[in-house]
Amino acid sequence: MKALQIPVVKLPKETEDLRREIRQFLNEEIESGGFEPKCDTWLSGFSEEFSRKMGSRGWIGMTWPKKYGGHERSTIERYVVTEEMLAAGAPVSAHWIADRQTGPLLLKFGKESQKQYFLPDIAKGECYFSIGLSEPNAGSDLAAIQSRAVKVENGWILNGSKIWTSGAHHAHYMITLCRTSPMDTTNRHAGMSQLLVDLSAPGVTIRPIHLMTGEHHFNEVFFEDVFIPNEMVVGEIGNGWAQGMAELAYERSGPERILSTFPLLNELSSILLKNEDDDGLNKVSRLISRLWTLRNMSLGIAQQIERGIPSTIIASLVKDMGTQFEQEVAEITRLLVSVIPSTDSPSRLERMLAQSILQSPGFSLRGGTTEILRGIVAKGVIGK
Ligand SMILES: Cc1cc2nc3c(=O)[nH]c(=O)nc-3n(C[C@H](O)[C@H](O)[C@H](O)COP(=O)(O)OP(=O)(O)OC[C@H]3O[C@@H](n4cnc5c(N)ncnc54)[C@H](O)[C@@H]3O)c2cc1C
Repeated sequence: MKALQIPVVKLPKETEDLRREIRQFLNEEIESGGFEPKCDTWLSGFSEEFSRKMGSRGWIGMTWPKKYGGHERSTIERYVVTEEMLAAGAPVSAHWIADRQTGPLLLKFGKESQKQYFLPDIAKGECYFSIGLSEPNAGSDLAAIQSRAVKVENGWILNGSKIWTSGAHHAHYMITLCRTSPMDTTNRHAGMSQLLVDLSAPGVTIRPIHLMTGEHHFNEVFFEDVFIPNEMVVGEIGNGWAQGMAELAYERSGPERILSTFPLLNELSSILLKNEDDDGLNKVSRLISRLWTLRNMSLGIAQQIERGIPSTIIASLVKDMGTQFEQEVAEITRLLVSVIPSTDSPSRLERMLAQSILQSPGFSLRGGTTEILRGIVAKGVIGK
């Protein structure tokens, strides 16, 4: 068995000033009615205006080179920004995927022209991306995708469909994993490529998938003979699987895997304190100590990724434990206070509890299901 090791990160002094600056900005935004704090805002809290404000403060593309509109700050400083935004329940979903995933992907594999064209607009909070992986018959078994691009003069013709695509109705582009060669059953991961698809191009249709609440944040996306110019291919044709897996490392262990219900936990703590409910506070303090451990692990992985240390196994573990924690916050709140959760309630606690209960089944599905993550951890620890 291999031991899993992650460093303990000591936050540098300069992050304290940054944290103060962010909190001041967030308080001003809340007080002026700029946004209402909510749970799970990295996926469902959309505000172009808020993303632009973050862009103008230099809080998107923070670690990227200045020549592409970035700010050359550290991964840990970026972590402080993202955790403060999620803890406050700020509407960050417009730019989230582009900042977390698309930017780093293009920096690693993209063409120079793609970096120059996309990264400055992403960093301004003006250009949004979605993730085109899942298909109706390919979720956990991603290698089963059937969307297919065929070579033509100057580019590719894409046909197929994607499903559960968060934010595609707001996004400008999708990083789409598709087959560019027929499936080879002896090597199912070969022959896939990543294409940058302009979601306003002819042949692209986006249909909403409404949640039971009537809300809309994910979609089905159909491609019918969509022309993709050669300059919109990311990295190497045929290398899409390896590139896509590198992309997943950015998304599995960040603060969004432990803080989706933090605004609810915060609200619950204030109410229990006000009611002098010692038993309730005791249960909340256990949650907070778990959160502290998860956050230390998540920070340690952020640092490992920055140093190029492979972190897939430990990131999978953090996502598994983090999403269970997020779900338990909703469950424990429901047991500790006698309230009627409703998204329209005048009580903030009732609204946040409703948001958490409604979103929490998805926490352990999106970005890889719990069963799949445990498989990765088991194989990794045993070393096979
Ligand atoms: C809120 C939300 C947002 C999403 N956003 C996006 C997005 O933006 N882009 C995108 O591409 N996708 C997105 N997804 C899709 C998500 O990635 C898939 O739902 C996920 O990968 C699971 O695939 P599936 O739904 O096809 O389920 P399946 O793969 O069919 O799995 C069904 C069940 O079987 C279990 N299972 C499957 N295979 C195994 C196995 N080998 N061993 C043990 N158990 C197994 C799974 O754990 C699960 O419980 C989103 C999903 C949600 C819930």
